[in-house]
Amino acid sequence: MKKTDVLIIGAGPTGLVHALWLTKQGVTVRLIDKSRGPGETSRAMVVQARTLELYRQLGLAEAVVAAGYQTPAMNMWVQGKHKAQLQLVDAGKGISPYPFVLVFPQDRHERFLVERLQALGVEVERQTELLSFEDKGDHVEAVLQHYDGQQETCTALYLAGCDGARSLVRHQIGSGFEGGTYRQLFYVADVVASGVNPANEAHIAFDKSEFLLMMYYGQASQYRFIGTVRDERAEHPESLTFEDVGHEALTGLNIQVEQVNWFSTYRVHHRVTDYFRRGRAFLLGDAAHVHSPAGGQGMNTGILDAINLAWKFAAVVKGQASARLLDSYEVERQAFAHKLVETTDRLFTFATAEGGFADFVRGNIAPLFLGIAYKSEHLREYLFRIISQTTLNYHESPLSAGKAGDVQGGDRLPRVPLLDVDNYAPLTEIGWQVHVYGEANADLQTWCTQHLISLHVFDWQLAYHKAGLAKNAAYLLRPDTYVALADPAGSPATLSRYLRERGLNLIV
Ligand SMILES: Cc1cc2nc3c(=O)[nH]c(=O)nc-3n(C[C@H](O)[C@H](O)[C@H](O)COP(=O)(O)OP(=O)(O)OC[C@H]3O[C@@H](n4cnc5c(N)ncnc54)[C@H](O)[C@@H]3O)c2cc1C
Repeated sequence: MKKTDVLIIGAGPTGLVHALWLTKQGVTVRLIDKSRGPGETSRAMVVQARTLELYRQLGLAEAVVAAGYQTPAMNMWVQGKHKAQLQLVDAGKGISPYPFVLVFPQDRHERFLVERLQALGVEVERQTELLSFEDKGDHVEAVLQHYDGQQETCTALYLAGCDGARSLVRHQIGSGFEGGTYRQLFYVADVVASGVNPANEAHIAFDKSEFLLMMYYGQASQYRFIGTVRDERAEHPESLTFEDVGHEALTGLNIQVEQVNWFSTYRVHHRVTDYFRRGRAFLLGDAAHVHSPAGGQGMNTGILDAINLAWKFAAVVKGQASARLLDSYEVERQAFAHKLVETTDRLFTFATAEGGFADFVRGNIAPLFLGIAYKSEHLREYLFRIISQTTLNYHESPLSAGKAGDVQGGDRLPRVPLLDVDNYAPLTEIGWQVHVYGEANADLQTWCTQHLISLHVFDWQLAYHKAGLAKNAAYLLRPDTYVALADPAGSPATLSRYLRERGLNLIV
């Protein structure tokens, strides 16, 4: 019987990132997938800024940025007429070290993660399927089947179900998957096209209730199209080709599709699982939540699930935290998943609503409003924060406490880049850390040394005040860089109480 700390089911982006994070922290993993190799279709195109910020902790961010394509602008077209252009270069300037929209197709992204995992000595066990598992109270026993039909039982402390929308893990823990399925049939195609203008930007074209998103991904004349199929054509999706779909939204754009590299159709669901955890089994990524691709959030949300749970598993496995730390995973990620599904549902329903009034608003009012309002720095910033997931917080979590200035427990630390110092520079570490903007008192310095927590002190500047940080306060950051505790007094006693009350003992 093979043993491991965490058995990860599914080597999509969620499982791969979970394995990378755990391995980096010295937790043993087995990562199995029933497929023969990584996904070969692009699916998710955008890697959001928050994902890149957290990829810095694995040393992946710069390589992903170099391999991806920074989209300069998004154009909106309605029935062949150009209605608005939103500049995306530096859209999040001052908010994130990654202030752009990075296109990096999911197939390449997965291959990249597989290579990084191999470099850490972990191979994805392909053609290996989870058949069933049993929670034995202090461990999990899982029955796995290999490509030749041989079965084995694997023992693990925890089971991470990263096994996609049809998750067996979810079925086995008996968790529902409430929500629904959109009426519209989607298609996705990789094409060689000419006439796209501007050729190297992203475009969204509406024609009545259909839409087509065209993403350029850095290779001359190649585009990824994602669109909806007219109802009357959607009855037999298996026999559809690119010739059958998409032409309405393309009408008037003078685009010639010269070659279709691949094409497929798919249904979109909006659902969130009832439980993110049952005993020793956890659900992450599409196994826990699915929604429309509006806003490009699905894959990124799965990756953030993986990171959220990985540091908690590591702390528990290493004996630095009691098992109740794992309860916070469901509290933090389920609330976000519900919010995300609601928002993307509203956006998608608006984009595809039928009827003259909906056409009018979508075709005239919305692009006009967006085109004008986007020129305001505030709206641009607001949209960037939402879409990049940099606005996500865990205020309601049992791990979040205190407030100093405008920053409270559960917040993402505001980034304040100055000429000679960047407060995000230390966030490349995986581990607890304390930030003080101003002066750290001697007791706090001693406390950090005793608890093996790195202390980063930044000379006080007005820019910190403007970002909402308080002078001389202590900000205790979790290993995934969210603020755990904000204490205006910077008092070691408050920090000790915070750790004690949450069953955290970092000095083991
Ligand atoms: C056409 C399309 C377009 C999309 N566009 C976007 C977008 O623009 N932006 C965005 O963010 N997201 C997008 N998504 C969603 C995105 O692709 C998913 O959110 C993402 O793939 C989820 O990753 P995951 O690792 O959670 O699951 P998956 O990628 O589904 O991976 C699950 C893995 O588990 C394996 N598995 C399943 N059951 C078992 C078992 N019993 N034993 C062993 N292995 C098993 C499967 O083989 C698979 O490899 C799109 C999806 C589709 C289909």
